[in-house]
Amino acid sequence: MAHHPKSNNGWAERHRKALTTRHTHEDVLNDREFALLLEACTALPDPRGFEARFVCLVGGRLGLRAGEIAHFRTSWIDWDRKLIRIPRHESCSCGYCRRQARQEAAHNEQLTVPDALASRWHPKTIASVRLIPFDLSLRIELCIERFANRYDGFPRSRATVNRRVQEAAEEADLTGRIYPHCLRATAASYHAYKGVAPVPLQALMGWSDLATAQKYIRISGTATADALRQVHHR
Ligand SMILES: [Zn+2]
Repeated sequence: MAHHPKSNNGWAERHRKALTTRHTHEDVLNDREFALLLEACTALPDPRGFEARFVCLVGGRLGLRAGEIAHFRTSWIDWDRKLIRIPRHESCSCGYCRRQARQEAAHNEQLTVPDALASRWHPKTIASVRLIPFDLSLRIELCIERFANRYDGFPRSRATVNRRVQEAAEEADLTGRIYPHCLRATAASYHAYKGVAPVPLQALMGWSDLATAQKYIRISGTATADALRQVHHR
């Protein structure tokens, strides 16, 4: 058999990489793991447990990013329409925003650190400016209400968001990788399994690319199964 020269192995190389690269959707929590994580929050001392529960619910069900959670203000809540509005801008000069501003300025000659900091905080992309309904379940709705009764905004740093997730995961004795971004992937996967269509899923998650929503929907299999059953069971 002829030996293929290395240059022809591009496909094989990409295939190998696809099989070995770890993707966030692989770290998605199933419903049982997510329930255990929430249960563990109640075992943590106050206010850590209260904050951990908020982080886990808005991350794992509403898909907020860690940066969005750390900068969350109750002024983002529209109580009448039961929506959270992720704004274009929220004035901030926390340690995380200062670090991000320095990084942005370092990668852009036109941008000074003070100018970069003036634009902080802002969400990751323009597509991240979005409206998120929080009355998807009574559990989430009550969690938002309890949070707003107690705080004007998330009272801790960006690093604390990670720490709260870690504390809950340890308390729940959940092995594997649990971090804020896998909670966000858990939210995406949860809604895809429920049968949310690509465009609303993209809007909820604030993805720039519809393909990301389509990927979660394809992996869930729900839309495929529903479409095929509609055809075959009629
Ligand atoms: Zn900040």
